[in-house]
Amino acid sequence: MRYTDIAIIGGGLAGSTAAAMLGRAGIPTVVIDPHQVYPFDFRVEKIGGDLQLARFASTGLAESVLRSATLDGENWIARFGHLLDRQPSRQYGIMYDALIAAIRAEIAAPAEFICDKVVNVATSSERQRLVLSGGEEISGRLVVLANGLNVGLRRMLGIERLVTSVCHSISIGFDFVPVGRPAFPFAAMTYFSERPSDRIPYITLFPVGNRMRANLFTYRPADDPWLRAMRRNPVETLNAALPRLRRLTGEFDVAGDIKIRPADVYVSTGYRQAGVALVGDAFASTCPVTGTGTDKVFTDVAQLCNVHIPAWLSTDGMGEEKITAFYDDPVKTECDAWSNAKAFDFRQVSIGTTPYWQAQRWARFLGYLGRGWLRRLYSPPAAASAARPASRFRQHPHAADRV
Ligand SMILES: Cc1cc2nc3c(=O)[nH]c(=O)nc-3n(C[C@H](O)[C@H](O)[C@H](O)COP(=O)(O)OP(=O)(O)OC[C@H]3O[C@@H](n4cnc5c(N)ncnc54)[C@H](O)[C@@H]3O)c2cc1C
Repeated sequence: MRYTDIAIIGGGLAGSTAAAMLGRAGIPTVVIDPHQVYPFDFRVEKIGGDLQLARFASTGLAESVLRSATLDGENWIARFGHLLDRQPSRQYGIMYDALIAAIRAEIAAPAEFICDKVVNVATSSERQRLVLSGGEEISGRLVVLANGLNVGLRRMLGIERLVTSVCHSISIGFDFVPVGRPAFPFAAMTYFSERPSDRIPYITLFPVGNRMRANLFTYRPADDPWLRAMRRNPVETLNAALPRLRRLTGEFDVAGDIKIRPADVYVSTGYRQAGVALVGDAFASTCPVTGTGTDKVFTDVAQLCNVHIPAWLSTDGMGEEKITAFYDDPVKTECDAWSNAKAFDFRQVSIGTTPYWQAQRWARFLGYLGRGWLRRLYSPPAAASAARPASRFRQHPHAADRV
């Protein structure tokens, strides 16, 4: 039996971040994950916007981790084939496996990574017991459950998942390459849907190393034939859905694998229990379209590791009253509520057909257009032209937030 203070199940974004933070705080911790090296996984591929970056900064890891990412510097906002605005931008492109590798590189003693799978968990208001697939047992004062979408261990603890929106959205990821010229004329671009009937809120194009990565989102059922068409003939299907995109990108091609991933919105139930705290996707998911999943992860982990765990360890026991303080933490509850509301509002503002949502759509369009005009009016031409792709590695003080 190995003894520790904190046993983290799952070394994805939430678990690895928590382990690195607790190690830095001098708290004995083990993080257990079946993958020594996190495999390729289509998840978040960029971190950006002032709010999300501030949340990442609150973990103390942002500065070192973002050195492995690619900063865009400027993001074009476009719709109907027109460039509405060229926003200063701080979006950092990084593939998920590289992000996790960079975070895990920050895990140091007294935190430790164990490559194994947790197959059994038993909790109480005193010590918690984990059994690993290799037969090893771990005893900890607290279990942090950071095992993402995996439901098996949660069920063992009587924790269920309440799905509030089945296949809320579908995310599609691929490499976007210019045809007939060496590069696109922008560092990054967010291109909004031309017609709500296409059920596409937007496509975002952003640099990851030397590649231009595309994340396209759609609100369609998982068995929609359009997804098959997208997989078989991506260029034709994309041009049919967003016919004026090419005015800004020029001719393009799609390279490599096309990843298509539906996402449910769910929240766990029955989680207020002694000895265990759920973080990240293990607690609740959100919609990838709004890009707030990592806000939730960073907020959960920062509040847990900066505020609650040090307080809990200072007295005996790990009763439910301690754990409840984390779930009722106003910073956490506010972030969860904001993320959840955004998931549903953004769907409506993208595809809603009532006069209210149509008006909202036009208001957003005019807002972007107005900001673009003002920016052009007040930026000297030299500054505007300097913000072309070459500027992608510069940092702007007033970078725009996400959609
Ligand atoms: C397609 C897609 C696009 C997204 N885009 C964005 C975006 O643009 N912006 C944004 O903010 N968010 C985005 N998100 C959300 C974001 O990726 C997730 O919220 C975040 O990755 C969740 O991290 P996590 O650590 O909770 O889960 P995970 O990263 O899934 O980690 C769970 C870990 O638990 C481990 N595990 C599971 N079972 C066990 C076990 N029994 N024992 C030990 N370990 C176990 C797994 O191996 C894994 O390493 C997106 C999500 C998806 C699916």
